[in-house]
Amino acid sequence: MPEPVTVFVAREIVTLNRSLPRCTHVAVREGRIIGHGGAEIVAEFGATLDDRFADKVILPGFVEGHGHAADGIVWRNPYVGFYPRTGPDGQQAGGFRSIAEVVAHLTAEAAKLPDPTTPLTAWGFDPIYFEGRRMTAADLDAISTERMIVIGHVSGHIMNVNSKVLAACGYSRDSNIDGLLRNEAGDLTGELLGPAVMGRAARASGDAGLMREMDADAYRTYGQIARRVGVTTSTDLSNGCTPGTVAALTTATAAADYPIRIVPAMRQREYSVPDGIARITELKRLNTEKLHFGIVKIVADGSIQGFTARLRWPGYHNGAPNGLWYVAPAEFDRIVDAYHSAGIHLHIHTNGDEAADVATEMVSRAVARHPRRDHRHTLQHCQMADEAIFRRMATAGMCVNLFANHIFYWGEQHRAITMGPSRALRLDACGTALAAGVPLAIHSDTPVTPVDPLFTMWCAVNRLTPTGRVLGEGERITAEQALHAVTLGAAYTLKLDHLVGSIDVGKYADFAVLDENPLAVAPTAIKDIAVHATVLGGRVFPK
Ligand SMILES: [Zn+2]
Repeated sequence: MPEPVTVFVAREIVTLNRSLPRCTHVAVREGRIIGHGGAEIVAEFGATLDDRFADKVILPGFVEGHGHAADGIVWRNPYVGFYPRTGPDGQQAGGFRSIAEVVAHLTAEAAKLPDPTTPLTAWGFDPIYFEGRRMTAADLDAISTERMIVIGHVSGHIMNVNSKVLAACGYSRDSNIDGLLRNEAGDLTGELLGPAVMGRAARASGDAGLMREMDADAYRTYGQIARRVGVTTSTDLSNGCTPGTVAALTTATAAADYPIRIVPAMRQREYSVPDGIARITELKRLNTEKLHFGIVKIVADGSIQGFTARLRWPGYHNGAPNGLWYVAPAEFDRIVDAYHSAGIHLHIHTNGDEAADVATEMVSRAVARHPRRDHRHTLQHCQMADEAIFRRMATAGMCVNLFANHIFYWGEQHRAITMGPSRALRLDACGTALAAGVPLAIHSDTPVTPVDPLFTMWCAVNRLTPTGRVLGEGERITAEQALHAVTLGAAYTLKLDHLVGSIDVGKYADFAVLDENPLAVAPTAIKDIAVHATVLGGRVFPK
């Protein structure tokens, strides 16, 4: 006897399935979609009707193509961001408008720690919003010179530390190491750029802090954060894949009530090339319906607002020196070639246009040497790519996942400070990517910005900054295109489009249940639609 069939009825169902784009009923058996159509399918499948969503709109569950499950762990440390945010406990945090406000908040947080030498770690800092000078070690020394203090920037690419951390790392005026920011006199400012010096500081602080290994609880917390905004599949796009992390992932996702599917991407940086290939091959054997290993992540450069992204001419608008290569171009070529020829799926972080240009060249060369169909190597962020880069990406068979949320969060800063008024117009150029025929996803990079696919759609459709300016009118895409980018488009970049991303027979019964249809409301209202529930594999998760 096959399992019984349940039919969910809704006011409207948007399927993203060309053979039946809109319907009102969807039939589910054994966690998968077995049919869709009108009221007649209840009888046709001998089903039980579930009408709890009768006045709601059902969409395919959202796919966050670039998120970090670390969103489920960062909140264990104080948040010191410019924009107020809601933590997993529902409490609002942040909203700091100056270095002085951040220091005052951390002084209060430090007072809560058990003793004067307990390290203090905070996250979410972003000085680009502040006028004038940057934070220095002296600012943090004013909080304490006895305890180590580490402040992570919201981009994840920069840290500020106090003198005690600099000393513990052995960093001084005489250190000849890349990534140590100096003032005009040549003294260290306490700002650390890039993973090498940041990793050392995090270890030296004696508090795992921002580099803490994920545990099963952190994955559970992330699952709840993502579910509440309609996500049913999320990447964890930078995963060390240590035995501890993998055990945490398998434990959390094995629970029947775990609400999302997770697609971890293994950080290439922590492995030699042969070890990395062996590790990802071994991890794929652990795949289940809710856990999908297979992607390897390479990081090419840093962040634009932190001035560590690699830019082509004319460089940073304010004259800041060019950013950092996280992998030297020669090494980059060797790594891409080895993973590509081993048949592995690559996602490559590129922020600046020089990084996107070089990454496209590396993939193009690897594809020429070892022709392989349907590799779907994806540039992540790819924020400053121009038309010519997108055309070469299309030729090389690449996909793109653009960081649409940046338009709102940093659009004004990119216009005034980093890119200037003209280049800022092509920030996260969704319109150009689609015109060039590059398969498109859009993302939040949570916890860099909060995960919320309806907000991400709103950004790509409206391109509004906080001042109400439309940044790059011609790059706006339609609500239909944006919905595709947060469902089927994102699933395609993950090679999961045969399983999730649309409502079609055989796919997982993964739905986002909303109060309104984002294709029917005013474009500026998309972000305000309430998520009522999600369904994962036919199981309902009420909000
Ligand atoms: Zn990221």
